[in-house]
Amino acid sequence: MLLGCHLSISGGLEQTVARAQALQINALQIFSHNARSWKMGALKPDEAKRFIERRRHAHIEYVVIHTIYLINLASPDPKNFKLSVQALQDEVQRAGELNIPHVNTHIGAHLGQGVEKGLERIAEAINSVLASPQAKNAPDVKILLENSAGEGTELGATFAELGAVLNNIKDKSRVGVCIDTCHAFAAGYELTTPQGLEKTLKELDREIGLEHLELIHLNDSKFPLGSRRDRHEHIGQGHIGLEGFRLIVNHPTLREKPFILETPKDDEQSDPKNLAAIRSVRYDRT
Ligand code: ZN
Ligand code: MN
Ligand code: MN
Repeated sequence: MLLGCHLSISGGLEQTVARAQALQINALQIFSHNARSWKMGALKPDEAKRFIERRRHAHIEYVVIHTIYLINLASPDPKNFKLSVQALQDEVQRAGELNIPHVNTHIGAHLGQGVEKGLERIAEAINSVLASPQAKNAPDVKILLENSAGEGTELGATFAELGAVLNNIKDKSRVGVCIDTCHAFAAGYELTTPQGLEKTLKELDREIGLEHLELIHLNDSKFPLGSRRDRHEHIGQGHIGLEGFRLIVNHPTLREKPFILETPKDDEQSDPKNLAAIRSVRYDRT
């Protein structure tokens, strides 16, 4: 199975690969730079080459960049909107330089301008990113839109909203979706019973199309179904529970997708324990 976690890039990109090796994972998610800063510095000479080689040696089969949380592709503020578009362009370019196929992003919050206007703005932002020289120079990089828990005015809590954005993207070959289990569950999608999971995936197929599903974020939820609260919990210790993850990671529609954990990091045992919990419910264990 393709399984990994979000790992820190402190010490440099190569260090991240070393950490992934220590965890014996074959998938990896990173921020490409300091997540509290709009600014993306240039790569050091050879940094991309070294990352790509080290990654090949370590057999990391899948890598995804997660964009910084400052980005709001729906922002009604022209300055913030422009910064968000530029930041996403930079991430796509960086992914191209690093041979990383996916840039995953939160789509944003409408901040009072309304759902419809917000969704239009997000599609406008992505179309403009995809028309940029940065995106043209990185033709193999896809932008993934992540579902949200629906806190405040966050968009993308329903598959219909993600589908509405996707519908307005001119080049659909360059976009996909990421489903976060904590966000989906908090947004009211049942995942913990076979019937609930079937119903959820049916809606996903109807509103988005399963062919656009590229990535799963595996996070348990601190709060109950429909709570609309985005608080990740250790695997098996939240309201989704270990049996919920057993259904999710073995489901024929999902089992071949990359699975990335974004669970809390209380201490250095947190990642190994959460990875072990997922492996313990996977039927083939490979
Ligand atoms: Zn995310
Ligand atoms: Mn996530
Ligand atoms: Mn979250």
